[in-house]
Amino acid sequence: MDTPRPASTDATAAPDAHTPPVPLEGSCHCGAVRLRLPHLPEQATRCNCSLCRRLNGLWAYYPLGTVQIEGHPEHTTDYIWGDKTLRNIRCIHCGCVTHWEPLAPEPGARHGVNLNNFDPQVAAGVRVRRFDGAETWTFLD
Ligand SMILES: [Zn+2]
Repeated sequence: MDTPRPASTDATAAPDAHTPPVPLEGSCHCGAVRLRLPHLPEQATRCNCSLCRRLNGLWAYYPLGTVQIEGHPEHTTDYIWGDKTLRNIRCIHCGCVTHWEPLAPEPGARHGVNLNNFDPQVAAGVRVRRFDGAETWTFLD
């Protein structure tokens, strides 16, 4: 039934028969908070604001509700600062910051997912843009 199959030889699972699929599932370090992306991101943001530079988060944005998240809020706590529009969410057990979400979601709202909780192949495939959240609120590249 559950016979292990080597992913690299399973051509049917990959859109390109030569490349195994990049896993869309990620988790915090201890696994209490698990996330599944609706699709791979094309772009991610590194921000230099006072919080992001400490967290070293690599943020990919998705429409709110499209990322499946397990273990939240039962295994999470949050941090709210500044203009109090977002909550930064981390695992209460291992401390890893997994995502942020808007406090008062409006139509079209997004949430940010920290790609550092995913297989390194996910981050390797994205264009990383540098956002100047510290001062100008513009992209630096
Ligand atoms: Zn954890």
